[in-house]
Amino acid sequence: MDLYELTLHELQEKLYNKQVSSEEIVKSVFARIKEVEDKMQAFITLDEEGALDRARKYDARGNLSSIAGIPYGLKDIICSQGMKTTCASKILDNFVPFYDATVAARLKEAGGVLIGKLNMDEFAMGSSTEQSAFFPTRNPWDLERVPGGSSGGSAAAVAACEIPFALGTDTGGSIRQPASFCGVVGLKPTYGRVSRYGVIAYASSLDQVGVFSREVRDCALVLNIIAGGDPLDSTCVDIEKPDYTAFLKDNIKGLKIAYPREYFQEGIERGIKDAVKQALLKYEELGAIVEEVSLPHSEYALPAYYLVATAEASANLARFDGVRYGLRDFEAENVIQMFSSTRAAGFGDEVKMRIMLGTYALSSGYYDAYYLKALKVRRLIKNDFDKVFNDFDLIVAPTTPTTAFKLGEQTGDPLTLYMNDILTVPINMAGLPGMSIPCGFAEGLPVGMQLIGKPFDEGTLIKAAYAFEQNTDYHTARPDLGVK
Ligand code: GLN
Repeated sequence: MDLYELTLHELQEKLYNKQVSSEEIVKSVFARIKEVEDKMQAFITLDEEGALDRARKYDARGNLSSIAGIPYGLKDIICSQGMKTTCASKILDNFVPFYDATVAARLKEAGGVLIGKLNMDEFAMGSSTEQSAFFPTRNPWDLERVPGGSSGGSAAAVAACEIPFALGTDTGGSIRQPASFCGVVGLKPTYGRVSRYGVIAYASSLDQVGVFSREVRDCALVLNIIAGGDPLDSTCVDIEKPDYTAFLKDNIKGLKIAYPREYFQEGIERGIKDAVKQALLKYEELGAIVEEVSLPHSEYALPAYYLVATAEASANLARFDGVRYGLRDFEAENVIQMFSSTRAAGFGDEVKMRIMLGTYALSSGYYDAYYLKALKVRRLIKNDFDKVFNDFDLIVAPTTPTTAFKLGEQTGDPLTLYMNDILTVPINMAGLPGMSIPCGFAEGLPVGMQLIGKPFDEGTLIKAAYAFEQNTDYHTARPDLGVK
């Protein structure tokens, strides 16, 4: 087995026992990247020289933490000091941050080796990574298909063994949906568990940073490093943070699992329902108590989300005006024209559409009818979850209604594309932690199972995910990219 094929914890053990050096690991992942990256295009920026340099420094210094000496990538929405951060947008094409996002700083301090920045839908708006202003990323399981989005580059790179782990962000499903399409583990923590400082904002009341890995253990190791309060982000809660590896126990006897009727209805592909139902049987076999419940306001989550998310986006994206960052139209005759022509040239169509929708929803006269109404719906959705969690420890559902679709199949039709998030958006609206883990295949494509937990109870998600993983072997399947 080559080094690049190993998981984070396997690599760490080899480093710890001095069987390999960080430099050897980094060389191995770059050899892999050279083999598959042309076909997949997961990275916007790669920094081989810098990564080797960081690896050698680590080798000279020795063991610091569970991720020390391990290569990883960041979604290109997370600011990285001295490394271009584009948000996959022309407007930030030349933006090199002079500071690290808190999550990037924490991984750096822990000795991780950043190797590059990963492709995404522009400003995290999308579900296929086709909205990147630069190029689409392809799904390693079938290069004709999308990897999901918006964190599609992160999911594809981890699935194809270009890196053992990556960070992404999830506003309405952007970690869980691509994790599901690419057959990897994806965790979106509770809103407020992980700092958003230095993460370019899309919808501030929904955005959350999380982890992609090939095994649940690796996800726990990375969460241990990135989670926890941050004085630079007032929405990041400074409450006690458990050691997430303590939840890696293969015993879920008596765990109370609910599955919502509304998440198994029409429109969800048969193969997906079957795989998740099989998984529920597996949980029963392992000693969990499984029951059906109802989340009656589920159907309103998607329309309410698109009001809240676009409203917040319209405010957040106002800062890209040609003055402070990135692109500027130097030919414009006056400042107003400069704002306007810079934004016209810098933003893609989807981003422009959302800014217009959000501005409309917030305008006086429409605020009460749309934005305020959406906030009320949001509360009803949260109440539905609270009620279920009075009696259950965990909710289990499919992550997505379909498996990965073909490139171009949904580009002309935003509403169809939005349906991808129908099962993930409610979790962001309620601020809950959610995770997608591989639970089978439908017609050769990976299927993801979504685990949804109580606020700040990522531990139970990790425990249930680990128990399932230890008793199945879906996580060991790897895509054949025609190279090996
Ligand atoms: N697809 C959803 C959207 O476009 C979610 C994206 C995300 O989670 N960043 O808004």
